[in-house]
Amino acid sequence: MSAYHPLNETEAIAIALTLTDVFPAGAALASREIGDGNLNLVFHISDPASGRSIIMKQALPYAKVVGESWPLTLDRARIESEALIQEGKLAPGLVPKVYSYDADLALTIMEDLSDHVIMRRGLIEGGKYPLFAEHISTFLAQTLFFTSDLGMNQQDKKNRVRDFINPELCKITEDLIFDHPYTDADTNNFDEAIRDEAEALWNDGPLQLEVALLREKFLTQAQALLHGDLHTGSIFITPDSTKVIDPEFAYFGPIGFDIGAIIANLLTSFASRGHWDTNEAARDDFRSYLLVMIRDLWTKFDIKFRALWEQHGVDRLAAAAPGYKDDYMLRLLRDTIGYAGSKIVRRIVGLAHVAEIGSIPDAAAREQAQRLALAIGKSLIKLNRSATSIDELIHTAQTAA
Ligand code: ADP
Ligand code: MG
Ligand code: MG
Ligand code: MG
Repeated sequence: MSAYHPLNETEAIAIALTLTDVFPAGAALASREIGDGNLNLVFHISDPASGRSIIMKQALPYAKVVGESWPLTLDRARIESEALIQEGKLAPGLVPKVYSYDADLALTIMEDLSDHVIMRRGLIEGGKYPLFAEHISTFLAQTLFFTSDLGMNQQDKKNRVRDFINPELCKITEDLIFDHPYTDADTNNFDEAIRDEAEALWNDGPLQLEVALLREKFLTQAQALLHGDLHTGSIFITPDSTKVIDPEFAYFGPIGFDIGAIIANLLTSFASRGHWDTNEAARDDFRSYLLVMIRDLWTKFDIKFRALWEQHGVDRLAAAAPGYKDDYMLRLLRDTIGYAGSKIVRRIVGLAHVAEIGSIPDAAAREQAQRLALAIGKSLIKLNRSATSIDELIHTAQTAA
């Protein structure tokens, strides 16, 4: 195709018209740029006559959220399309279908999921998703087990690690999650009302030790192919369907990072409910619902991951060593708790905030949510190396509230 340049809507339509098995020849297509993310262009292209539609996602050579001063590799579009294809094989029905990928344009054409809602938005509006824990635990167990040394040939895995070397996107995580919140960095972005909380982070040695250990694992442990950015803004949902999008941060890293990311965002929702629910009973009800969801998510993940290991484990030594499996699962739980805490803290004092808290209009209510989220996040980080059960995470949230 053509040399890289950001597409305009007319060009996006011209490319869509070449998809002859989607759109009838000569269709009068409509295009809208709908990207609300931080990094990329997203075009929604539809044919009003046939009712057919697709999504085109194009990487920009810089981070949209900061501007052209922050260059960012286009290779992330390849990583995203390859990760979506891999996830689609391992977890059928839980990611959008990829129709095509164009390396020159850094462009992925995929299934339109506009009949779903972004989970972050759905939760703000009080949405209930009874199948979410079931679906996301399947997504996690399948994608993480079968890309780990437990579930795939270890020589093949090393080649896959090479395919998913993603240094620039990993650096964003390393800086924004594990570094900047713990120092007086320019990128930090917090309400002045909680400056005391930010300064406390910069001076909390024991907390910084835990974060340094979590960061070391993020830097060095190629445990499985992660999604790498699994927050509630990367999940499209309805009461009966769950679809994970946006794996441009995919790389081989510690499994707990993906599980912790989801839990972190359910807990920022938890912290925000004092504003979004109209009375205390509704708030407490929604908070209980979120905690049940977190418990189910972990419990189902644990059961499914162990079952895959029993049925499909390829590692003879891991199967033979007494106590290895329990030790492995305990380490996953601890990592999950530590990364959940880290991801909460960065959403309050770091660069990119979450809408459920950042968009609370009343300053006092917003401050309350921020302080609650930080209390939970810091406690989880400090708990991570000693936890033995998901109940301790649940208890941490309950007692902080
Ligand atoms: P970014 O990497 O820039 O965050 P995302 O992949 O998260 O981009 O997409 C940004 C937004 O574009 C999503 O929040 C959603 O509104 C829309 N979007 C992305 N993929 C799809 C899809 N397959 N179907 C419908 N809308 C989509
Ligand atoms: Mg996104
Ligand atoms: Mg988004
Ligand atoms: Mg993204």
